[in-house]
Amino acid sequence: MAMAAARRLVLFPGLGMGHLIPMLELAAACIRRDLAVTVVVPDPSFTAPAFSATLRKYASRLPSLSVHALPRPGHDLSAAAAASHPLVRMLAVLRAHVPGLRDFLRGLRPAPELVADMFFVDALDAAAELGIPGYLFFCTGAANLAVFLRLPHVCSGTSGNLRELGEAPVSFPGLRPLPASHLLEEVLDRGTDVSAAILDVFDRMAAARGILVNTFEALESSGVAVLRDGRCLPNRPTPPVYCIGPLIANGGDEEEEEERHPCLAWLDAQPEHSVVFLSFGSRGALSPDQVREMATGLERSGHRFLWVLRAPAPAPAEPNAAFALLPEGFLSRIADKGVVVTTPWVPQVAVLQHASTGAFLTHCGWNSTLEAVAAGVPMVCWPLDAEQWMNKVFLVEEMKVAMEVTGYKPGVLVRADTVEATMRRIMESEERKGVVQRVMVAKESAAAAWKEGGLSWAEFAEFVKTI
Ligand code: UDP
Ligand code: UDP
Repeated sequence: MAMAAARRLVLFPGLGMGHLIPMLELAAACIRRDLAVTVVVPDPSFTAPAFSATLRKYASRLPSLSVHALPRPGHDLSAAAAASHPLVRMLAVLRAHVPGLRDFLRGLRPAPELVADMFFVDALDAAAELGIPGYLFFCTGAANLAVFLRLPHVCSGTSGNLRELGEAPVSFPGLRPLPASHLLEEVLDRGTDVSAAILDVFDRMAAARGILVNTFEALESSGVAVLRDGRCLPNRPTPPVYCIGPLIANGGDEEEEEERHPCLAWLDAQPEHSVVFLSFGSRGALSPDQVREMATGLERSGHRFLWVLRAPAPAPAEPNAAFALLPEGFLSRIADKGVVVTTPWVPQVAVLQHASTGAFLTHCGWNSTLEAVAAGVPMVCWPLDAEQWMNKVFLVEEMKVAMEVTGYKPGVLVRADTVEATMRRIMESEERKGVVQRVMVAKESAAAAWKEGGLSWAEFAEFVKTI
């Protein structure tokens, strides 16, 4: 008797590491459920070295995973290359790959289903043309999804630019109001290329058959509720959402890599919960002035730290050039207290799960947030861009698993004395105890979510049933 061919999912990840890694974890979860999975990626000339390296790592860990590089787009991409904003460029590159995606999907038998990155609504159109169900993978939180879905409505209902509202609260049904300045930088001004492009994406997200969200219900009950009851989208149904997080890399795998990163050996030699880990994601960098204030504050605080330092864009090719941003003699003075790492990639999950790590000063990228919660590490929020300012509000005010830096606002320079005080608050204060307690509760629910019968496990099973 012929075996039925396994149902196939085609996954189309985003270009950023914060989009790729959770999508590959989704691939792993699908394979465990006996689904056949193909990851399609743009022509390698459009992706960064870390992107290819991560893809290779997962492909070798998951022997049944197939990877298909889409053909290099035939038409001229020079207009895209000249686009003012990286997000506009990225969307143009992806759009240019859609014909190749369509041909690839058309050739698969039996017909697959598609899960595309949150930004790739063009891929949904290609799938619809072929009668293939198209889902989106949303790699930030449920409350953010509710905000994004509603932003086109908010922007069209505001006269003038949102930027002019400054700190004034903007209301979203069922969520706490957000200061206008905390919404995406890209939508604060009307009529720019990037605001038009991103609002168009948000507007078309609702065309998905369903949206997979990298969160878990216990972490974000109000955000999830708003999506389920459809309040965020006026006059249109919200697609079904499947909260299937946290999908994060396995820190154990990172520990076992052939070349263990030297920062892990340094952590081995530190006392338990004594180190503050400072990192700003895969592309975040502080201004040179901010680097100096940070360094001085860290040094004065006397606390141990592991700081991932990157030079601001355009970054020099030589990562060690970032050391030049530090105050004179800093590295030798802090030698027995701190480490500054400039390597392009640090095994963040393994660092967060290390017993010596006691706090995480983070840019509040969603993946970083989930990784800290899963490791039970209290956070200090230092948002830079994207939806990170919104994440700060949810982390500090709603989940209460993080502290904020007093007086820090978009574009503000945080002085060394504030850095010093913040280090003391997160490591020594009474306030720390409450934050640690709540993050430990969140850690337990994160672990429970993917256990058999857990909430995310059940929602994933529900998703698998619908495909
Ligand atoms: N990107 C951008 N501005 C943003 C968010 C993303 O230009 O506000 C671009 C970024 O340069 C990268 C891609 O979008 O090429 C995805 O980046 P990342 O994974 O950092 O996105 P995020 O997690 O911030 O959404
Ligand atoms: N990351 C890492 N090492 C680095 C920089 C980043 O492992 O040196 C990982 C981090 O653990 C997270 C992802 O890259 O999984 C970054 O995603 P996030 O959403 O936190 O921020 P983004 O880079 O998209 O701004």
